Amino acid sequence: MIYSLSDLQRTEALLVFAHAYAGGATCGHYSGGSHLVLTRPFTAGRLKRSTGDALCKPHAKFWGLEPNLERDPAAATCKRCKEIAGRLNLLGTDASKHGT
Ligand SMILES: [Zn+2]
Repeated sequence: MIYSLSDLQRTEALLVFAHAYAGGATCGHYSGGSHLVLTRPFTAGRLKRSTGDALCKPHAKFWGLEPNLERDPAAATCKRCKEIAGRLNLLGTDASKHGT
């Protein structure tokens, strides 16, 4: 199932699971696998992301990112995404406190 940006924006969670297509050889070790994708714009220090971007890098750097709202975001395999989410405490907590 492919989700559109508006589907993402209707999601309550800040982060959703997303499968990345392994196509870009230039992406090195981050290509393929699964990532954590933002459902709304997010800024934390130097980290700036838009809706649909993965935590580890912007959407445009992927060949394709396919969000899957039925999967648990904790199941994502990207170490960088999970590291950032863990550092900023974005998983398993109420993200709404960041917005207000
Ligand atoms: Zn990632």
